Amino acid sequence: MQILEIKNLTKYYGNILGVESLSLSLEEGEVFGFIGPNGAGKSTTIRSIMNLVNKNEGTILIEGQEFKKDDRKMKERIGYLPSEIHLYDDFTVKEMLDYHESFYQKEIHNRRRKLVKRLKIDETKKIEDLSLGNLKKVGIVLALMHDPKLLILDEPTSGLDPLMQETFFDILKEEKQKGTTILYSTHILSEVSKICDRVGMIKEGHLLKVVTIKELHQKNFNFVTIESSEIEKIITKLKEEVIMREGNFVKIKNTLPPDQLIKLLGDYKLEKLLIEEATLEDLFFHDYK
Ligand code: ADP
Repeated sequence: MQILEIKNLTKYYGNILGVESLSLSLEEGEVFGFIGPNGAGKSTTIRSIMNLVNKNEGTILIEGQEFKKDDRKMKERIGYLPSEIHLYDDFTVKEMLDYHESFYQKEIHNRRRKLVKRLKIDETKKIEDLSLGNLKKVGIVLALMHDPKLLILDEPTSGLDPLMQETFFDILKEEKQKGTTILYSTHILSEVSKICDRVGMIKEGHLLKVVTIKELHQKNFNFVTIESSEIEKIITKLKEEVIMREGNFVKIKNTLPPDQLIKLLGDYKLEKLLIEEATLEDLFFHDYK
């Protein structure tokens, strides 16, 4: 079943483009990485899903229904972590969590307690005294404590220290195992590759491409740097894309299998040879360079 379905979403802020004709569906249990540079339209899409901005066009369905802000039942099924967390400054963390807990009809205290412990949150602290990272942790508890079926995370790791990020990923992996659907927005691709099934790239308000992580890894290429006095001949022989050339140096995007590459290079005198694995970023972005 499709748990989230966005059809032709368009949102302009006056004349400023937020997103245009964006369509995207998430299957139940899927973890989807929503990748794009700052200002690409990720938050606009997410705020539209959460009904926090008025869209110009399009439909957004959650479990087949439009989400209304005051729909309590549906709210219980969604966990939302905004990119910037705004909470009541003069509340303590405990008061803030108690307040949110009181909105839910089901028993969630136990889960809240476990999350607070795991994320090492001090509930006695005042919200206004929290660092960015600690505020983020409170936001994570608020998004997760009611055990939502759909998790919407907007730049969830910004501000978290590396150890906390790891704990957070462990929690997300457990959620994934349980069958929670996750929309994970970030500008860091390597981050989502750890848990995502599919990745969508958004740029200047348009969803440019959607691929599975498996497909990404099948795009098999690496980078080969060679120094040789016979560099011209080598370039002609390999017939691969040259990325950088400087004197007797060349960097090539190589799609040949290693044995074939070595065989071809064996005919020439080489001063240097370096083979580097392509990063996930290289695999994903090479079409756009
Ligand atoms: P991302 O989340 O990918 O960083 P956003 O959705 O926040 O991108 O922004 C998309 C575009 O919409 C940007 O050009 C941004 O400046 C603009 N934008 C976002 N929010 C507002 C707003 N409240 N008023 C005017 N423009 C906005």
